[in-house]
Amino acid sequence: MAAAQHFDVMVLGAGIVGISTAIHLQKRGLSTVLIDRRGPGEETSHGNAGIIQREGVHPYLFPRSLQKLLPYAFNLKPEAQYQLGSLARIAPFLLRYLRSSNPASARRTLEANIPLFEQCLTSHEALAAEAGGMELISRGGWLNLLRGSSGVASAEAELKDLAALGIDADFVTSQELAKLEPHLDTTRAEAVIHYRDPWTVRDPGALCKAYARLFETLGGHFVQGDAGNIRRSPGGFSLGETKADQAIIALGPWSKPLLDQLGLKLPMGIKRGYHQHFRPVGNGGLNRPVLDSDNGFVLAPMAAGIRLTTGAEFAVQNAPFNPVQVAMTLPRARELVALGDAVEDRPWMGSRPVFPDMLPVIGAAPGIPGLWLNFGHAHHGLTLGPATGMLLAQMITGQTPFCDVAPYSAQRFTGW
Ligand SMILES: Cc1cc2nc3c(=O)[nH]c(=O)nc-3n(C[C@H](O)[C@H](O)[C@H](O)COP(=O)(O)OP(=O)(O)OC[C@H]3O[C@@H](n4cnc5c(N)ncnc54)[C@H](O)[C@@H]3O)c2cc1C
Repeated sequence: MAAAQHFDVMVLGAGIVGISTAIHLQKRGLSTVLIDRRGPGEETSHGNAGIIQREGVHPYLFPRSLQKLLPYAFNLKPEAQYQLGSLARIAPFLLRYLRSSNPASARRTLEANIPLFEQCLTSHEALAAEAGGMELISRGGWLNLLRGSSGVASAEAELKDLAALGIDADFVTSQELAKLEPHLDTTRAEAVIHYRDPWTVRDPGALCKAYARLFETLGGHFVQGDAGNIRRSPGGFSLGETKADQAIIALGPWSKPLLDQLGLKLPMGIKRGYHQHFRPVGNGGLNRPVLDSDNGFVLAPMAAGIRLTTGAEFAVQNAPFNPVQVAMTLPRARELVALGDAVEDRPWMGSRPVFPDMLPVIGAAPGIPGLWLNFGHAHHGLTLGPATGMLLAQMITGQTPFCDVAPYSAQRFTGW
């Protein structure tokens, strides 16, 4: 740890959410220290599919009909798996997720998502331009490949919602596809959607590191340390020799254990996910990420190769490493694009931090003065980190927030 120093704010966790929050606080004149046990952006924020999902306003819902649920119960579907050994401990979260997946709650989440997602491109652009990170970003959107006709019907409803929000997305013809992705085999696709507005990042970890360098250029301090050692003191918070008047928990999937330690119980769960890179074959490859939505994997062109990312694995965070979803989806992925050898010997594994209503918690920690929360960004933390970082910085500094913050309050779980 650094020599004894006192800051206005300490931000615990240097993923995309913590880094972005720290930049926005430092820019607003608060002396800020960013603390992580690793380097910036080396966990979940490095391992994702790299899509800044301008269109991602619809929440992922838990299946509610028995017909849909049964194949998941038998672990037959590659897009969602669970570990039996974790089931007893994750059951309370799964029940809350099921209960929150009703149409009224999904609509509330959609509406609460709208102002956050509206900010996602501009808030990234502001940071990336200043951090020299724009070269990591492409503006070609991404493709959603639908193998079955039932997916096409629900996609039509989703596209209608997106059109009402002014988001540019539509089915593409095979001629258009051949131009967009000449090496993508779409013979098994019933239809393909092109979301044209989203941006994609070819090395999300490098983008986080560029943002972290910007934070330090602005006068912010990065310190390596274990957030588990945080202590409340009369003047605020201390972590070893580092002291601050206020603290923010932005530990992504590790936020709940620390909150439990501080006596604050929130119903957060995790959805684990895996990735592995594959070498492109010849001059083949992809120009933009492609989601196979029937199998829940994404193939994303990255600096390290074509990154295959998997859907959700429901398990406790320290459950055994079990990359069965990579094994299940790889043959399906090879149907879409030629993939050479794996770049790494074994897949990477990470965890999406999720609340049952699929909204993050942003705001004051109930009952703990000076403590703030910014985590639970689920499938969209890369997308939303800069926007929610700005929102929390506005709240902490007494500025008018860019949107109504009530839907993201931890208080919404009172009585759960
Ligand atoms: C397979 C997969 C694909 C995804 N694809 C996308 C996508 O395309 N687009 C998108 O928007 N989102 C995507 N996501 C989700 C996104 O990656 C996450 O929502 C986001 O990275 C969460 O960021 P975070 O800053 O909250 O957490 P993290 O990035 O996990 O950061 C938390 C930090 O806390 C630190 N930490 C933990 N414990 C301690 C401790 N005790 N002391 C100090 N530091 C600690 C960690 O080292 C880490 O740096 C995907 C996720 C997965 C798993």
